[in-house]
Amino acid sequence: MGDARLCSLIEACLQKGTIEELRREMNQVFLKSSIQELKKYPGPLRTFGLALETTRFQLYQVTGFFSDPSPDEKKAGFHRGNRSIYMDFERIPPNEWLMIFTHEMAHVLDENLKAASEIYADDKTVKVLADWAHKVTSSQDLPPEVREKLTRWIKAGLDRGLVAEYRAWHLTFVIYREGLNVQAWRPIAWLDEILAQQRDGESHEQFVYRYLHERFEDPTHEDPLFQLPLIKSELFETRSAYLKRPPEVQP
Ligand SMILES: [Zn+2]
Repeated sequence: MGDARLCSLIEACLQKGTIEELRREMNQVFLKSSIQELKKYPGPLRTFGLALETTRFQLYQVTGFFSDPSPDEKKAGFHRGNRSIYMDFERIPPNEWLMIFTHEMAHVLDENLKAASEIYADDKTVKVLADWAHKVTSSQDLPPEVREKLTRWIKAGLDRGLVAEYRAWHLTFVIYREGLNVQAWRPIAWLDEILAQQRDGESHEQFVYRYLHERFEDPTHEDPLFQLPLIKSELFETRSAYLKRPPEVQP
């Protein structure tokens, strides 16, 4: 981002208006400059930047300065409910900015996530499945239409959690490697450390899924519904099947 442009913007805001206005302006500047920066490079970086340009954001917020604290301890985050993003200015090293930006934006562009959230949150479905889960322990004992409902619901739950991360990290890694090729950034140690854990004979997709699978907690502990054998085993089976054959990702 041009320093001069930023300085004059801050000055203009301070002269005419409130800190709120400045904050809003800053968020826009960060958003636009990050997209602009991605678009400068050829190939996937430009394609991704162009896709972002036509996307409407609920809220893009740069936190970590002024009086805007981040909602948690992380460098950045995406809120699934209101589809907003924050990035903590102080916590993100400049060389990592576009990578973190790419990762969070991958969630924004993720159409599956939006659809899955709606299916997963559907009260009627949850009620039907909960009723059955109190009566039977295996999906084999379900009528076909309920079994289908269960599969769809479990997949939707994963699609907004583990699998959403899988899709976003898959894209993040692709963009990261491509960015190294075109020297958009320098190597990032913690990303290289993760990527070095890919095993021989493992596809990139299998690796990314396994890496997240091993670190992703099931909702078993918090949600009583997931303690019921029917639900618990369906989740376990779906997650295990994905280990062998991860969900499709868009190229
Ligand atoms: Zn993520």
